[in-house]
Amino acid sequence: MIRNIAIVGANMAGARAAEALRGAGYDGRIHLVGDEPWRPYERPPLSKELLWHDGAPPETFYLHDEAWYEANRIELRLGVRADTIDLSAGAIGLASGERIDADRILLATGGAARRLPLDGADAVNVHHLRTYDDALRLAGDLRPGARIVVIGMGVIGAEVAASARRIGCEVTAIEPFAAPMVRTIGEHFGGWLGEYHRTQGVRSLFGRSVAALRRDGVRVNAVELDDGELVPCDAIVVGIGIVPAIELAASAGLAVGNGIVVDAQCRASNPNVFAAGDVAEQPDFFGGRVRLETYQNAAEQGAAAASGMLGLPVEYCRPCWFWSDQYDLNIQCTGRIDAEKQVVLRGRMEDGAFSAFFLSDGVVTGALTANRPSDMGIAKRLVERRTQIDAAHLADVDTPLREILKRATA
Ligand code: FAD
Ligand code: NAP
Repeated sequence: MIRNIAIVGANMAGARAAEALRGAGYDGRIHLVGDEPWRPYERPPLSKELLWHDGAPPETFYLHDEAWYEANRIELRLGVRADTIDLSAGAIGLASGERIDADRILLATGGAARRLPLDGADAVNVHHLRTYDDALRLAGDLRPGARIVVIGMGVIGAEVAASARRIGCEVTAIEPFAAPMVRTIGEHFGGWLGEYHRTQGVRSLFGRSVAALRRDGVRVNAVELDDGELVPCDAIVVGIGIVPAIELAASAGLAVGNGIVVDAQCRASNPNVFAAGDVAEQPDFFGGRVRLETYQNAAEQGAAAASGMLGLPVEYCRPCWFWSDQYDLNIQCTGRIDAEKQVVLRGRMEDGAFSAFFLSDGVVTGALTANRPSDMGIAKRLVERRTQIDAAHLADVDTPLREILKRATA
């Protein structure tokens, strides 16, 4: 009989797991432990709305109000790290010295922003963005006319560059790849996005790297590039990926690779320990294994882990989906965005509204939409159903996508 469940990591995956445990009728204790001082909240606004509004979070920022935790008997422990797992006794240890007995443990520890490995990266105006506190600090430096240097144009860099331009900052973006978000949307679509940033006034130093930070007391006042060019700045935003928080799992002897290794029931290498969200290395929809860093995955895998912990039937293995909002662009991706595959375009990239489908041997394996969110609803189904489709048919913009889906799955 399961009477005690401890969830380590009080954000998206952890909170959705707690919610799903109660939703499934589990009546025992739920301990939700997080080292941030805030109850679970939405990270997406941290690079968008919260920066636009001088640090004010949107109304829907917290996943649940305080009363929800009490009503659902979720024992929320905030501002404290879990630093040990006792697998043989079934317990976690907190940095405060407390111990929580647990029949099942869920590790939803996410990841931390990768630090820029240069002297000066700890200066007060060098920002890494992962938490609410990080965003509040960054918001304080984004002032009209401020010279902001963005290092790394992945999703964080691209979104913060767009937000900073919206505020009226002068933005210089430095990215070793030839374009933004190459890792997620490839060079072709990254090139289109890079052009969009240029037209919005971002000074784009793509294909360039940072060699050093020039410091003046507690602040950095210039970034030195690999060719010696100096870019003066008032603040820096670093977006060079995350490091998954696997240390707790690793120190307990659980199997870890690029993340905590789990199966489709979200079970780790010990039968009583589970993992979900950004930290979990899981079976990939396309075969092999993958660690996903997306909102949808954290929410859905958290809920799936609740079923896994309760021994309910669950097979969690979904293609990735994420969105990114930059300027007036809404970009969404599902499945694999792979330039090596056959690409079918609906609409024109130069119009800023199009959908691209990626086909492998006639099967839709991925899609990217720009300002066409309704296409994404259908694209997700095409990918999830591994739909075989005629490329010419898909390219015909006069045939509605819904019609194409219907015919392909008839
Ligand atoms: P996290 O959100 O990382 O939560 C893990 C929590 O566990 C953290 O609070 C951490 O401090 C805590 N923790 C770690 N170790 C311990 C420990 N030992 N003891 C106690 N607590 C611990 N995705 C999208 O699809 N679209 C978007 O537009 C989007 N925007 C984003 C914007 C930003 C700025 C960021 C940072 C992310 C964004 N994402 C977006 C990604 C999405 O928010 C993440 O994938 C999601 O938050 C992952 O949730 P998680 O619960 O797995 O991990
Ligand atoms: P990212 O999209 O993973 O991009 C980071 C980039 O930095 C990668 O291209 C990486 O290259 C590169 N890099 C790694 N080390 C570097 C170094 N020392 N110097 C320069 N570049 C380096 O990560 P991110 O943009 O920082 O985002 C962080 C997290 O926030 C991710 O989990 C992301 O999913 C999440 N987020 C999501 C959204 C969204 O979905 N809309 C928005 C904001 C944030 P390698 O690939 O070679 O490591």
